[in-house]
Amino acid sequence: MNILADTFSRKINYLRISITDHCNLNCLYCVPFGGRVRVSHAEIFSYEEIVRVCEAAVLAGISKLRITGGEPLMRKGVVELCRMLSGIQGLESLTLTTNGVRLRELAPQLRDAGVQRVNVSLDTLRPERFRKITGYNLLSQVLTGISMAEEVGLHPVKINTVVMRGLNEDEIEDFARLTLEEPYHVRFIELMPFNGSSEHQSLFVPVEEMVKRVKRVGDLSLEPALESSGPARLCSLPGAKGKVGFIAPLSYHFCGSCNRLRLTADGKLRTCLFSEQEIDIKGPLRAGASTEELVDTYRLAAMRKPHGHHLNSTHVEKYFGRGMQAIGG
Ligand code: SAM
Repeated sequence: MNILADTFSRKINYLRISITDHCNLNCLYCVPFGGRVRVSHAEIFSYEEIVRVCEAAVLAGISKLRITGGEPLMRKGVVELCRMLSGIQGLESLTLTTNGVRLRELAPQLRDAGVQRVNVSLDTLRPERFRKITGYNLLSQVLTGISMAEEVGLHPVKINTVVMRGLNEDEIEDFARLTLEEPYHVRFIELMPFNGSSEHQSLFVPVEEMVKRVKRVGDLSLEPALESSGPARLCSLPGAKGKVGFIAPLSYHFCGSCNRLRLTADGKLRTCLFSEQEIDIKGPLRAGASTEELVDTYRLAAMRKPHGHHLNSTHVEKYFGRGMQAIGG
């Protein structure tokens, strides 16, 4: 197995692939301010192209793939894509990030196609708020999807909750209580400045405040750090079946241990979520690049990976060109 490393001796073994920029929800912090600019159909990577660049990624040293978007379960044939990806020799893990709307229907098929785990994004447990945040009345569908994912063994189901002032920070305790009864990993995430709106400062809730609120439910014990927990610091409440995690990209960035590259839906390798630097892999692929040349593109991307980002909770005004749904969150 080859090792892909960057110039700061970080091992790069994780690729997140956005397979579509289309989404069936309109989360108010994700949709770019001023509206979405959709990538044209011709620019979107076909499944055959995704498989080809993922095979090259694994040869370069990537061992973990995560499928994301947009909403990946909106793209037709996603189960078949998962089957093709999970069959790549040398791949150790295939996971997926979804809003959960189509999970009830697709969880069994995804598991059979080789997906090992899912992360589900859910920012509220209240139907009215769900509609306010996402634009749709689909909370019960998402909750059923989460149960189904757990039932079919896509375990542990990780619930990603972006905390926002005045929108859902008063639900932190409710989300934490969910882990008492259910084996989910609920991960509270700091809002990142992605959609170009100037409201970030007023919506931002620092991780310390999230921890304080969870402690109102019970004492927190720190769990050992696992590679599969990624940047989340995992804790548990007394007697809980699940875990609580905190992800603080602004208060305590985790660039020093960043092991990721991202592939955008239109075939660009992105070296850091917070950097606009992209390396075209679709162009060379469509021009007939050999597998070795594609492997070299990953090496180039790794070499260009920046040391870290310079944002913190008070310096966030930069707009990162594309919204999360285009980059692949
Ligand atoms: N549609 C899928 C989903 O909902 O999980 C995958 C794509 S979505 C862009 C991936 C994740 O990015 C979601 O968990 C979402 O909450 C997160 N996200 C989007 N914009 C964000 C922001 N400004 N700050 C923090 N997280 C954000």
